[in-house]
Amino acid sequence: MPVEGLPDPTIHRKCKRCGLWCHLHEGTRCWPPKTGLLTVVHVSLAQGVDNDQDMKFYCAPCQERNALDERRFRKVTVSSGITIIVLGIALPLAWWVGAFAWLERMMRSGY
Ligand SMILES: [Zn+2]
Repeated sequence: MPVEGLPDPTIHRKCKRCGLWCHLHEGTRCWPPKTGLLTVVHVSLAQGVDNDQDMKFYCAPCQERNALDERRFRKVTVSSGITIIVLGIALPLAWWVGAFAWLERMMRSGY
């Protein structure tokens, strides 16, 4: 239940995601979700040096949404990575095949 009226910073925390003030037990401090290249770098660095200041308060529903976003981002990253690898193999292969067809044409026209 978000806090109604004036929040008290000693017993309430503002959720970083939805911006609502919540009771302390309704959420926890955790790392921001890695949903972009910048946040991946930023959060990974902060985790590496144990920089607690970058941990933000998120209410329970927002933590679930963060987890979903992170999973979606990871899926997109993996699929685009696969696409790049496939293109990296397919394009030279197409060029190779095309180059051979071209060579063949050249040799035929030579006769
Ligand atoms: Zn929230």
